[in-house]
Amino acid sequence: MMKSLFIILASVLSYPLLAQSCESRGPNVILLTLDGVRSYEFFHGTALSHGLELKLRDQGRIFKKLWSNHAQDGMVLGAHKNYKIASSVAVSLPSYQALMLGRATACKDNHCPPVQQETVLEHVKRSMGLEKKEVAAFASWEGLSSAVAMNKDQITHGIFPDIFNDERADASMVSLQQKALLDLPSWKESRKDKYTFELGMEYLKKHCPRLLYISLVDSDEYGHAKDYPGYVNSLRTYDDYIDQVIQTLKGLGTYGSQTTLIVTTDHSRGKGPLWIGHAYTPDSEKHVFLFAHGRGVKPVGQSRQKAGHQNIRPTIEYLMGLAPSGEILPNVQVD
Ligand SMILES: [Zn+2]
Repeated sequence: MMKSLFIILASVLSYPLLAQSCESRGPNVILLTLDGVRSYEFFHGTALSHGLELKLRDQGRIFKKLWSNHAQDGMVLGAHKNYKIASSVAVSLPSYQALMLGRATACKDNHCPPVQQETVLEHVKRSMGLEKKEVAAFASWEGLSSAVAMNKDQITHGIFPDIFNDERADASMVSLQQKALLDLPSWKESRKDKYTFELGMEYLKKHCPRLLYISLVDSDEYGHAKDYPGYVNSLRTYDDYIDQVIQTLKGLGTYGSQTTLIVTTDHSRGKGPLWIGHAYTPDSEKHVFLFAHGRGVKPVGQSRQKAGHQNIRPTIEYLMGLAPSGEILPNVQVD
């Protein structure tokens, strides 16, 4: 009796591991962007000027898991104003378009037309002859529809408010998106990040994409709502998310060890009381951070080398084995 119970228990416990196995078909990249995260909070933690808005126990370092467990195994840029966005304006859509193209576009606000040239997602898919399901983008904010692709139907996309339902008719992913539409945040044009992240993670585990982009926005919205505790809370959640991605990849065998994670933001925020906006000072909000981890990233921890969003596209191309269309990030090298 005990022995058969043990066998049943062992098979039940091992099931999730089996269900999460990914076949490795070569290098993979996951790009994660967190909207409007100020470098101060990323590098140092909560700002002293917000002491009265936070309980004592909620003050201090924010990205605790990243700094304690992952930063030294990867690379962090930006602590010395050495990492900038590629757009000439610190506004979301121009910045996302520049990130996706590897250079600034004519876009100057959140209402400009969609990208007119092939993005890194489309380029990788076409050049490598990948299937649609192998390149996927999930975004909380609808604006990403104008940045991820010239023709987003070329790639798998789950961008608010679309209900993505591809040829696999994945019922659980469809219901997750429907649930998000019934539980909208107080701000417009977006779904809550928790749904977008869950969609991205479910897609990662089920479909093992070669190139996955997850775009989150709660942080910027709490900022504009002047809600510092809400902003800090969203950043703590992002710290958990980054840790979850790294832990998940560790459990995905060769697929996981063949994957590079890149995390950044589209723009910083203003100093002091200007934190609620993007500030639009000559350049402070254009200085942002980048964290890279996994295949091809040298474990240098914080680096003072200079780089910017224009280096992300070439780096993804390089990591995927394509000829990079520009300079790649420092401390990235594959054998
Ligand atoms: Zn904003």
